[in-house]
Amino acid sequence: MTKQIVLASGNMGKAREFGEILSPLGIEIHLQKEFDVPEVAENGLSFMENALIKARHAAKYSKMPALADDSGLCVDALDGAPGIFSARYCGQWGKDQENNAKLLKALEGVPAEKRTARYYVALAYVRSEYDPVPIVVTGSWEGSIATKALGSGGFGYDPLFLVTGRNCTAAQLPAQIKNTISHRARALALLVSELKRAQEI
Ligand code: IMP
Repeated sequence: MTKQIVLASGNMGKAREFGEILSPLGIEIHLQKEFDVPEVAENGLSFMENALIKARHAAKYSKMPALADDSGLCVDALDGAPGIFSARYCGQWGKDQENNAKLLKALEGVPAEKRTARYYVALAYVRSEYDPVPIVVTGSWEGSIATKALGSGGFGYDPLFLVTGRNCTAAQLPAQIKNTISHRARALALLVSELKRAQEI
């Protein structure tokens, strides 16, 4: 039987990526807008806390198991910033160019070897709003921050994210490659094995 899950996100790109991986496993993804889920304050201090807040909130309104993700970029020379504030680093939500410009400014004069960074994601799965044993997995992807934007693929900080071990930014990688090596791809693979272990799928 197909398992129905609500994805605590309005982002169609994420929904497609999650759907492609989970539907062959018998999971049907619903978007939270189907259930009129209102906005929730992402006021946790970590990616894990925010992912759990979003998953519990979506489960509450949909009365279904829920999956949420929270992700961002952590730069070592900036003590982990922009971190959980990655989507709104410049002060407004989702302004990629402004976020990238602020990041370049913050790293002005920082030498290449000190520009190390990683993408990080937490995925949280709850069976219901008050699930006492949620499944939470994380994934990361190592890189460093370039001194200028390169490439036109991906989104967010990808044009500035130099991928460790490859001579290019994440925005220069074909989507199929990014989607197999990224923080999200790694976390999703872990999630699938944890869901199997918990006999959820
Ligand atoms: P979220 O959608 O609330 O998890 O926000 C994540 C933010 O982190 C995005 O808006 C991007 O700024 C950044 N981010 C997370 N993953 C990626 C990625 O794969 N590429 C580029 N930026 C990312």
